[in-house]
Amino acid sequence: MSVDPKTLSIVHYPAEVLRQKAKEVPDVTADVRRVAERMIELMFEAEGIGLAAPQVGLPWRMFVAHVPENEDRSLGADPLEATGEPMVCINPRLSQPERDLVPLDEGCLSLPEIVGEVRRPSRITMTALGIDGREFTVRAAGLLARCWQHENDHLDGVLIIDRMTPPSRLRNRNALKALEQRAVFH
Ligand code: ZN
Repeated sequence: MSVDPKTLSIVHYPAEVLRQKAKEVPDVTADVRRVAERMIELMFEAEGIGLAAPQVGLPWRMFVAHVPENEDRSLGADPLEATGEPMVCINPRLSQPERDLVPLDEGCLSLPEIVGEVRRPSRITMTALGIDGREFTVRAAGLLARCWQHENDHLDGVLIIDRMTPPSRLRNRNALKALEQRAVFH
């Protein structure tokens, strides 16, 4: 799994790696930690709130997330709505989704120009390994819960274009075609 983190960059749809089912990270090694740190840098540079390993071309079950605290998103709340620092989630497992589905517009760093409404459970619990290799379990609400679900989808090769409401899908049809064309003529 040796990777030079400096060579990593964000890949765009329709890159094949975005459609693969990612593999468990067998061990939280120094390499894995360096990749996670590079992913945090790339997330900040792109002004995103989450980035999954397949989005930098690595089919690993790992993502980073950072939803800053503000007046709507309080830190230290139970369930958590914000992250004080960027979090690294390795081999995450989501459970106990709230039954209510909430619609919200979502974008994706791998799908430039695409924004559409996705309905997701408002709360979710995650068990994962942190960058220190220790397991943690946290419940989240609001934007953080949405971010985890979006990033976790990436690990299964699922994108927002698969989950969008039909009107959003229709609205984004041309933008999506343009992305596919751009790849063909590259
Ligand atoms: Zn995404």
